[in-house]
Amino acid sequence: MENNITSHHKLIILGSGPAGYTAAIYASRANLQPLLFTGTNPGGQLVNTHQIENWPGDFKKLTGLELMNRMHDHAKLLNTNILFNEIKRVNFKQLPFLLVSDTNEKFTCDSLIIATGSSPKYLGLSTETKFLGHGVSTCAVCDGFFYKNKIVAVVGGGNTAVEEALYLSNIARTVHLIHRRNIFKAEKRLIEHLLKKVGKNIILHKQCTVNKILGDKSGVTGINIINKNFPKQNIMINISGIFIAIGNIPNTNIFHDQLLMSKNYIVIQSGIHENSTQTNIPGIFAAGDVVDHVYRQAITSSASGCMAALDAEKFLDKKYSL
Ligand code: FAD
Repeated sequence: MENNITSHHKLIILGSGPAGYTAAIYASRANLQPLLFTGTNPGGQLVNTHQIENWPGDFKKLTGLELMNRMHDHAKLLNTNILFNEIKRVNFKQLPFLLVSDTNEKFTCDSLIIATGSSPKYLGLSTETKFLGHGVSTCAVCDGFFYKNKIVAVVGGGNTAVEEALYLSNIARTVHLIHRRNIFKAEKRLIEHLLKKVGKNIILHKQCTVNKILGDKSGVTGINIINKNFPKQNIMINISGIFIAIGNIPNTNIFHDQLLMSKNYIVIQSGIHENSTQTNIPGIFAAGDVVDHVYRQAITSSASGCMAALDAEKFLDKKYSL
């Protein structure tokens, strides 16, 4: 057991994306007086999004930053204690659970909701960051709508890339799918769907890598790709948008020797029943993109944040009534 504990809480929430703030709103209303750590990215992934058109009820212009500021204000109004710190180390092998922040302060809690989300992988090109939200996207379901009848590119060769290419092929005029290898890693059934669309409005560029993303004030206008076959070729493609679909990394580094994981995602009981957001440790719940490699949407993250708060409330009710 460690000494010098800064404070003890019934419930701590890690993360300030849709899952974390929704959990905080529900937990505060249940009088659990949660302490929420925002981490280094207050508001989560959505703050980089210029326009959100799929948040129900908000059909007028809404930026990700506006939505997340509203969630922050909502949680704050209900007296959620919010700290703009990151948790660097945890110990779930002791009770109460221990969390150590970036300022080396130690916090303990009876229950914990982990909503630390995930981070999309990028190619590492400087122009990628420059045009992020202006033609560069990592989410076709979120941003595909803006490319109706336009020409777009998708980069990647796994399930996500093929799914995104198929999704976009129903919206965009042409989809260029760029993959650095000769063989796709995606599931057979997806590849079969893909091949049916090749020659219609999907064009494959195998053994190709993106060298440059080109653009102007209006955003992305094209890409330069290199075909790795001999002789190497530089190819210019005019596009309005590029979707980077090379994977997501769940933010779970600090939990690795503490919780049950699968492919770096936290494993929860899942399903629609009591305790479905519980991890392998009673009292520790997880919600949002940190448990979800399939849906990865603001609304699904919020929904699971709500479930985690309700599960934590039941857990604490039982604990305190004993
Ligand atoms: P995140 O939003 O990833 O938030 C994670 C939080 O955890 C962050 O606040 C971070 O600082 C914190 N954190 C991480 N580690 C720690 C730690 N050690 N200690 C404390 N805190 C920590 N979805 C839609 O529904 N509509 C859209 O239009 C849309 N557009 C998108 C556009 C882009 C470019 C991207 C990348 C995603 C988009 N999404 C969209 C998906 C959506 O953003 C995510 O599904 C959602 O944000 C996930 O929410 P979350 O709360 O699980 O995690």
